[in-house]
Amino acid sequence: MEIACLDLEGVLIPEIWINVAELTGVDELRATTRDIPDYNVLMQQRLRLLDENGLGIESVQEVIDKLDPLEGAPEFLDWLRERFQVVILSDTFYEFAKPLMKKLGYPALFCHKLSISDSGKITDYHLRMEDQKRESVKRFHELNFKTIATGDSYNDTTMLGEANRGILFCPPQNVIDEFPQYPVATDYEQLKAEFLKAQAEILGE
Ligand SMILES: [Mg+2]
Repeated sequence: MEIACLDLEGVLIPEIWINVAELTGVDELRATTRDIPDYNVLMQQRLRLLDENGLGIESVQEVIDKLDPLEGAPEFLDWLRERFQVVILSDTFYEFAKPLMKKLGYPALFCHKLSISDSGKITDYHLRMEDQKRESVKRFHELNFKTIATGDSYNDTTMLGEANRGILFCPPQNVIDEFPQYPVATDYEQLKAEFLKAQAEILGE
């Protein structure tokens, strides 16, 4: 049984930070790994902006509670789980993802965590480890699993490179241009087809 490794934001749910930016009016929070590839630089900027604007965990969770998975995402996930072991590898945080996991039927999620003060201020973040997505795929290989990974952004490309097969899902043009070795799917039907194709290739090896 192959493991399907899925990015979360941009593949199954909308970009959390973009939605937080829209509701709070703090436009600089719109930046994602599509804009700033260095995740640590991006997160330091986000924490600084939240603090400067007096936004605590409750404000952020209020926004996330209103979000729904992308249209068709729960059905896609159900389809995938019939055919693969599915693990979501994300650079978000458990504190942010929780309401959306309920809407996706609580799939396995490997992500990071936040430090929150008694007053609700987000004081710090803790990565599980550097390059968690890629490291997870490596560990699955050590367990003799074959992997197929999909994601939409820069922070997925090491995971895609480590996996037996990588697929880009609705990526921006600059990622397509920089990583032409990966097939691109722009909707869930195409993504299903790419997963089946990748699975057939792996089984034929
Ligand atoms: Mg993403």
